[in-house]
This record gives sequence, C-alpha cells and structure tokens, in this order.
Amino acid sequence: MYCQKGKKMTAKSLFACGLSELKKVLAEAGMPAFRAGQIHDWIFRKFVFSFDEMTNISVADRAMLKEAFPRILPPVHRFLKDSDGTCKVVLKLSDEALIEAVAIPDEDSMTFCLSTQVGCPVGCLFCRTGESGFTRNLTAEEILLQVMVLVKRTGVKPTNIVFMGMGEPFYNRRALFEAIDMLTDPQGLAMATRRITISTSGVIEGIMELIDRPGEVNLAVSLHVADDNGRNTLVPINKRYPLGRLKEAIGTYCDRTGRRVTLEMVLLHNINDQYNDALNLVNFCEGLIVHVNIVRFNHFPGAKYQPASAQNEKEFRRVLKKAGIAVTVRKSRGQEILAACGQLAGKENV
Ligand code: SAH
Ligand code: SF4
Repeated sequence: MYCQKGKKMTAKSLFACGLSELKKVLAEAGMPAFRAGQIHDWIFRKFVFSFDEMTNISVADRAMLKEAFPRILPPVHRFLKDSDGTCKVVLKLSDEALIEAVAIPDEDSMTFCLSTQVGCPVGCLFCRTGESGFTRNLTAEEILLQVMVLVKRTGVKPTNIVFMGMGEPFYNRRALFEAIDMLTDPQGLAMATRRITISTSGVIEGIMELIDRPGEVNLAVSLHVADDNGRNTLVPINKRYPLGRLKEAIGTYCDRTGRRVTLEMVLLHNINDQYNDALNLVNFCEGLIVHVNIVRFNHFPGAKYQPASAQNEKEFRRVLKKAGIAVTVRKSRGQEILAACGQLAGKENV
C-alpha cells in the first residue's frame, strides 16, 4: 500500500511493533513522528482498536493506516469456554508462536491470567508449560495484547491481573515491568498495583527489583518443597537460587514493603505431601509474613504425578494451622479446557 507521498508502508500487525518500530514504519510512509505516539496511546493506553475512533489523527492518515493495517488485534487462534465460565484464548503471534491467556470470572471479580514467555526455561516437573521447553520472551506489547483480546472477547475489564500463565515472569523483567506500567497508567486501564500479582518460581533478582519499584504489586512464590534436595528435583531453579537465599529475599520483601507474600504449594501424591514436608514448610515460614496457598495439582495429558489425597492435604493444612500459619486452598478453574494452573502449553491440541 502507498501513502500520499508514494512511499510504501510495510503492512505488519500493529501489536507486534514496539513504539520505536512503529515510528520507523510511519516515518517511512511520510507521516509525522508524533503519529506513532498517538496510535500507541490509543491502542495500548486507551484500548481503542479501530482507527475510525482515533479522533486526533487526520482522516487521510486514518484511511491510509486502515489500508496498511487491516487488523489491529491479531486473529484469535482458539477461544474456549469452560462450563465454570473460565475462558481461554490461544493467540498466534507474528512468528507463529502460540501463547495462552485466561479470564476467570467470579462473583464480583474478573481475573486475567497472563503469559510472559513462550514456554518456560525453568522446567518444573509437574508443569505442562515447563514440559514444552522455552522459545522466547514476550514483548510488553504482546503481554498487553492478551489483556486487550480478553477484554474484547469477554466484554469485561479485569479487576485483577495475575502473571501465572506461561513462563517465568522474572526472567522477562523489562517487558513485565513495562506492561505493568502501562496497565497501571492513569491514562489507560488505570489498574491499582495492589490488584496485580507476580508469581515466581524464585528468581531472586526479580524479587529485589520488585521491592525497589513504586506501587504495591503482590508477590507469590511457587515454593512447593521446603528442603533443598527435594526442591532441586521438582523445581530445578532451586539449584541456582537455593532456599536459604530465597528465604532471605522474601524476608527483605516483607520488611521493606510491609506486605505479605503468598507461598504456593502444589501438593503431589507421595512426593511433597507428607508430615515432614509440612514441618519443613513451617520451618521455612518462621520469621516471614506469609500466607500459604495450597494448589490442587491439575492433571494434563502425559503427566506423571497425581494430586495429594484429601486426607494428606487435610493433615498438611492441620500442621500449618497448628503452627499459626494462614493457609487457603485455591479453587481450580478452567480444567475442562486445560486452562488451570500448570496446564497451559501453547500447543495446537489445546
Ligand atoms: N512460572 C511462574 C508463574 C506461572 S506458573 C511460577 O512458577 O510461579 C503458575 C502457578 O501454577 C505456579 O504456582 C505453578 O507452580 C503452578 N503449577 C504448575 N503446574 C501445575 C499443575 N500441573 N497443577 C497445579 N498448579 C501448577
Ligand atoms: Fe515455568 Fe512456572 Fe511452569 Fe515452573 S511452574 S515450569 S516456573 S511456568
């Protein structure tokens, strides 16, 4: 397609262009530099997905943009809805990578669960995302894109955002924090930082960086096992960030922010659901302001593990409660459509 100055505009999906790339594309087509900022603002801050509604752009430029970028949002590769109301979108990015994002409605909330990477390099043994290996980091735009598609599909804006989809968020900190800044921008979705939660398998640099950032973003740590030997196997990142250092980082987070950290525990039958495992966890929690969230293991095709029995889970909770530790059990949502924790894989077979 050609602009009025006769130069070719490269037709590429807009969401895949960062601001600087967009500037280049538009400059090549002879548009003023500030157009890129205006468009970026409409899409990523105001959630406007149609050039017709971008009223501060001239009609001629809007027509040109429409021709060059027939769609602002990419087509949804798959959209699935569970009988419990949970929705999952599978998006195909410009390089054909598949990513997944989930919308979880509740009585008076709507939680969006977002991915930060294509696959995950951590490779936890009980996680379907980890099983599929790592392809690449997502850009901030690609993280936000998931929010936009979910808003468009469900017609509801999120009340909460959790970075608990595919990938280790703290291995992609630049894009993660940029996306959070845009989500909380008063000119955009204006989300409160305390409505956002980052879940990490234990990347200490990420915890430290979060402490130094303004705002009240919540921290969840996927602990699962509270002794180094067991955790080295189940959550291999433990070899790099062993429990002693992880505990120290969590303690610093609690002291410096005054906020409580959630420790996530997926209880697996005969693996980490025993009395001793609960005692190790009680030891780990000592001196920390934490809350333990027990997550039921979600099965997926080919998974080697089984969830802890109801009896073992009950006993595990009893030990924690007796030690004065707050403990809850997370409801599992979206299991039918493989949208629950640990079931996202970005695979063709859902
Ligand atoms: N990578 C980050 C965030 C994504 S995983 C992290 O690990 O924290 C989100 C949560 O799902 C983590 O607590 C993770 O341990 C948990 N999870 C992974 N596989 C699971 C499974 N099969 N069933 C239940 N929870 C699972
Ligand atoms: Fe990665 Fe989290 Fe899955 Fe572990 S649980 S493999 S860190 S996505």
